[in-house]
This record gives sequence, C-alpha cells and structure tokens, in this order.
Amino acid sequence: MSSQNKFEKDFYEVQRRQWQKSLFLLLILFVFYFFLVGFVAFVFMISLGLFIPGFSLFTGDNLKNFFLINFFLSIGIAVFHFYDARFHGAQFIRKRLLAECPDKEDIYHKRFINTVDEMRLAAGLPRVNPYIISAFAVNSMALMEADKTPTIIVTEGLLAEFTRDELQAVIANELAHIIRGDTFYITLVCSLANFFERLREMAEPQEKPQAQIGEIQDSGGGNPLVYAATSLSSVVMHLLSTLVSRQRELLADAAAVELNRNPAALARAIYKAHVSNSFIGDFSLSYSPLFLVPPGSKGISDGLFSRIFNSHPPLMKRIRQLADMVPTSPARIIGAVLEARKKREKARFLLHSQEETAAGRQEGPAASGDIQPEEEAVWSVRDPKGKWMGPYTLEQILSLRFFTLRIRTKNIPEDIEATAGEFPQIRTGLHNLYHKKPVNPKKYNKCPRCRMPLIDTFYEGVVLKICPSCGGKLVDSAVVGRIIARKEVAFSDYLLQKAADFRKNFLLNPAGIRKISREKTPDIYCPICGLKMQPRPFTYQYIIPVDKCFLCHKTWFDTDELEILQILIEKH
Ligand SMILES: [Zn+2]
Ligand SMILES: [Zn+2]
Repeated sequence: MSSQNKFEKDFYEVQRRQWQKSLFLLLILFVFYFFLVGFVAFVFMISLGLFIPGFSLFTGDNLKNFFLINFFLSIGIAVFHFYDARFHGAQFIRKRLLAECPDKEDIYHKRFINTVDEMRLAAGLPRVNPYIISAFAVNSMALMEADKTPTIIVTEGLLAEFTRDELQAVIANELAHIIRGDTFYITLVCSLANFFERLREMAEPQEKPQAQIGEIQDSGGGNPLVYAATSLSSVVMHLLSTLVSRQRELLADAAAVELNRNPAALARAIYKAHVSNSFIGDFSLSYSPLFLVPPGSKGISDGLFSRIFNSHPPLMKRIRQLADMVPTSPARIIGAVLEARKKREKARFLLHSQEETAAGRQEGPAASGDIQPEEEAVWSVRDPKGKWMGPYTLEQILSLRFFTLRIRTKNIPEDIEATAGEFPQIRTGLHNLYHKKPVNPKKYNKCPRCRMPLIDTFYEGVVLKICPSCGGKLVDSAVVGRIIARKEVAFSDYLLQKAADFRKNFLLNPAGIRKISREKTPDIYCPICGLKMQPRPFTYQYIIPVDKCFLCHKTWFDTDELEILQILIEKH
C-alpha cells in the first residue's frame, strides 16, 4: 500500500470518528451549564422563598420541576453553544487574527499557494484553503471550517523567513494535524471558548478600523461580566485542550516527516519560529494550541506550571525527536539555521539610492518636479464664507473640504459662473472618482512629483509602481507590511547613513517632525484616482510622514523613504 493511500484513508477514518469527540465536548458543555444554570436558579428560588410565604423549593414536586427545567434548559443552551462554535467558530478566529486570502500577484504568496497545493495532493486531501496573517511573527496554524474544509494559515513573517523546504515541512506538519483530527478538535475547543466574546460582538456590532501590521489589538475588557465569562471559559478551554495531550505535537511532527521526508527542515522551521518573536496579539494566547509554536514562545520556561498549562512540548524535545530521524544532533540543526542566516545576509541584493546612481543628473528630476498643473488650474470657487478661492485644478476642487455640487464655481478662462454641478467637467470628474477612476485621465499613472509615467515592478516580491526618475514608489497600503517583513535587498552605505541622519534629525527630535511635514509641500495628487493625498505618519511608532490616498488605499513614498523605513524598522 502506498503512503498516499494511507494518509487519505487516515483522514476519512478520523473524520468518521470525529462525532465521538464532538459528543464528548457537548457532554462537558451540558454538565457545565447544568451546574451553572442550576446554581443561578437555586439562588433565585431560595430568595423567592423569602418573599412568598409558604413557597419552598424542597417539596417533592417543586424539586422535580426544578431539575427537569434545569435539565432541558442546560441541554438547550449547550446545544446552541455547540452549534454556534461548530458553524461560526473557525470564521471568527480567522477574522480575529485578520487572516486574509493570499494575493495572487505576490511572489511569496504564490509560492505559498503552490506549496499548499503540492503538499495537499501528496496527502490526498481534496481541498485546503490557504490564508495569510499580516504579522511579522513567524508562526502557522490549521483550522477546520464549518463545511469541514481544512484551512492552513501562515504569517507574513514566516513566508519571509522560511526557505522552500522549511515551508513544505511546516505545511506537512499542519496537514498532519488535519489528518490526525487534532485540527477539528482544537478548532472546536477554541471556538467554544470564544462563545462569550462572539455573543458580545453580536450584541454590539461595531466597525473596527483595520489594524496595521504588527498592531493587532485585543478587544477584550469592557463589561466585567463578559470578562469573567471569558476568563472562565479560557481556563476550561485550556484544560480541554490539554486533554488532547501535548503528545499530539510530537505525533504530528512524526507524521509530517512521513509525508514530507525531511525531518531536518521541520526541525529548522520549528527552531526558527520558536526563537523569532511569535507573538501575534494578546488574544492569540487563547488560540495557542492551534499554532505551530506557542505565541510568545521566546520567553517560555519549562517549569511545573508550564508542564500543566503549556499547549506544546518543550522546544528541545521536538527538535531532538526530529534530529534523531535524520539522524543528527540538535546542535547541528541549530548550527545549520545560523549558517543559513549568515549566507542569506550575504546574498541580499545591494540597493543604492537613486541619488547615488543619478548623481550626475541631479537637477533633472528636481527641476521637473517643479512642473505644477497650473495650466489646468482654471477653477475658482466661493468658500462658505463667501470668499472666492483659487485658482484650482479639477482635482484640487474635488479635494476641497467644503466642496459640494451646490458650491458657486467659476471657470476662469471661459468666464462662466454657476453651481459646481452645472459644469460637465466637474460631474465627469466626480463620476470618475466614484468609480475609482482618475479625475483627469491624462495624469493617470504619472509620478505625482515629476510627472514621469510610473513603471510596474516587483520589489521584495510585491507588485508596486515606481517612478524611473525620482525613485518614488506607489504601494498598496495593505502590502507595505510585507515589504518590511522581507529581506531580499540590502542597503548601500549611503542609504544607511541617510536613515541614521533621518533618525537623528527627525525621529529623536519632535520639532523635526513638524519641520518635515512642512517641507512636504506642495500637495500631491494620487496617480490612480487624482484625489489629494493626505500626508500622514506611516504608523504611530514610525512617524515617517508619507502620503496616503484613502480612496484607493495607496501610499506614496518619496525618494528613499520606503528604504529608510525598512532600515529603521529592521534595525529596531
Ligand atoms: Zn518621480
Ligand atoms: Zn487614489
């Protein structure tokens, strides 16, 4: 019998047995609610007895009714709780960790999709969904969706750090968990624990702003009752997940090797994930059993407490088991990781500043940067106070804070005055904006500083637009984090110096920040939609001012700004 058949057979065999585990969890829930509801009802009845003379809980009939009602109520709540976890749990966890579908244009993401497909076929699974968490941490997890499709999630940091064989090994480990049924059980346990938080979210559905990479925040807290329920359920969940035994990691590691036949790569992967910062967010601790290595693994000791409460066996135990299969020693494995890191550091492609390579024609781009769209500044408008403002270009008026279609507007060369909505140019511009098309197609895809046509290119595996003249870059705001996580390029001494100067002059000096934001004039307009871009700090931690378009979610980095940001965060 081939190994392929074996995995496939195991998978369906385990699937058939999953109802037993489900029943077991349902039973535990029932017992939990039976005591909880019973206790609450008991207190209630006793106090009732104080007010209604002659009422006693302890007569035969009352006691029987009490137990019957408690019994059916507990079954009802437990079944509802269970079904909610089973059918909404996985999706909730994915949403909470901000896991997203991979971007098919991104080189790293494509490699991930392909590797999942390749390994899934080897294991004989019909479908596995790949997802990515936008975090610098190095970690992975598997979930079982409501329709019993498995999902494999990895972090952006993992994709940046892992070699192809390490990525394969980690996916094999997750597939092993899926095939062995761990994923189904742990997803269910974690979803059960999340029930109270989900209830709260249902009660108060609020739009949360998209968190920046590495800044996922815990939304816990607030209502003390919810807090108590959450804490209680997380303790119960911990105990339930330790019931699957920490042996599951060792068993899955072994099964992964059967699938992938590369124990050394898995050992290296686990080691790398362990020593890098695997923390993903406060709440990720409650999902600890789902992850490849426990989040925040850096500081975990192996005391008695951790032996009871830890979701994973100690690092060295896992490494040793895998090293024995090669066979080699754990020290050799760790040595190989360090060696590879050194080699990789050397292999980074050295990047120069545009200013270094184009030192001779320095005035070129700078001079053309002065070309302002004055030729099109033919509009003048009356502000709410009745004062005429302008002249403006079409983009500029549409970006005005007080702009409405009813505002008095004048086309200067034609000397026509009317409400803004009466001008077909303005209506067309607004229509284009609404459809996320450029207000003025002539300026579409041109560098906002020097008007050169932007070129589509790859940088750190990400598609972005670059200006061939000034080196400014237009990046999808959502993917900036990926660029920062990845380390294909190294930076020239000139760039390193520039970053160091920037840090000294601006970041360590609050007055400097205000100075650069003033230097950032004139305003620039989004090369995609034409709206005014807003100067904003990159994040609150890295207050490098960049220009952002909030309509098409693009960020514009002027010459060397992106590189400086990369250097500062990498050195941090
Ligand atoms: Zn340019
Ligand atoms: Zn835009």
